[in-house]
Amino acid sequence: MLILGKEVSRETRIEIKQGVEDFSKKYGRVPCLAVIIVGEDPASQTYVRNKVLGCEEVSMKSLKYEFPNGTNQEDIANTIRTLVKDDNVDGILVQLPLPKGYDEKYLLDLIPETKDVDGFCASNIGLLALGTPRTISCTPFGVMRLLKSTGVDLAGKNAVVIGRSNTVGKPMAMLLLNANCTVTVCHSKTQNLKEITKNADILVVAIGRPKFLKGDMVKDGAIVIDVGINRVDGHLCGDVDFDEVEPKASFITPVPGGVGPMTISMLLYNTLMAAIAREENAR
Ligand code: NAP
Repeated sequence: MLILGKEVSRETRIEIKQGVEDFSKKYGRVPCLAVIIVGEDPASQTYVRNKVLGCEEVSMKSLKYEFPNGTNQEDIANTIRTLVKDDNVDGILVQLPLPKGYDEKYLLDLIPETKDVDGFCASNIGLLALGTPRTISCTPFGVMRLLKSTGVDLAGKNAVVIGRSNTVGKPMAMLLLNANCTVTVCHSKTQNLKEITKNADILVVAIGRPKFLKGDMVKDGAIVIDVGINRVDGHLCGDVDFDEVEPKASFITPVPGGVGPMTISMLLYNTLMAAIAREENAR
């Protein structure tokens, strides 16, 4: 059965829009997300456009700062510093990856944990690892919502995550562990990958390799979540060979229309939560 990310995302955005209305009535302003993009990478441009459109959909304010590739890094840093001080800005996001030559860590470290709506900073990752999350990285957070939509009880399930990036694989593994799954994390040095994936009740693939996960790597009845976004011959495809895996899976996400829309919904959710937390703390 297909897990329809677009549908779950639509429902989530209706809840967020209501939350934004309630926030505006209570605090007399609208939550605001500031997005910074450097360079002209078409995929990044599309992601940023969709984030801005997502803000409009839930009646949230967005600010977009576009810098051409080659902009002095300190000019970008100063924009972030200004946004950090601006009381009307609740979330700051730097679209990744940055073009070569920029120091991602330096720029991201300027964003305080209270405005880190991507959930990337050390304290947000640390709180997740402790099982007391504050802001959760948007893509794995969205995956958890999609898993919840299946109605399957996750406790005790064997979950396998392929990919160990700081933004997707690692927080994904921590969320599944917090949900009482038995979690295995695989990566490019993993031996006998197929033996591991064939034992998975839940398989999350986040590696950036088109159609990598084949039918013979999947157990009958597994839930398969395809995080990958790859462009092949002008078309989008995931990390899962959908035609081979779909007949074996009990639930599977399509690409496009699966994890992608949820990622943006959880960004909007995180921005609303950051706005509420800032207002509550100011009292
Ligand atoms: P990343 O930072 O490049 O990390 C890729 C991970 O995959 C690494 O941990 C790497 O292992 C592992 N890997 C690569 N080849 C492998 C192989 N043959 N076997 C096993 N593991 C392998 O990528 P990412 O940022 O996590 O993104 C992964 C994919 O998700 C990309 O396609 C990206 O576009 C997509 N994505 C989608 C969304 C969304 O909203 N749907 C959001 C974020 C990312 P090592 O650590 O050993 O190198």
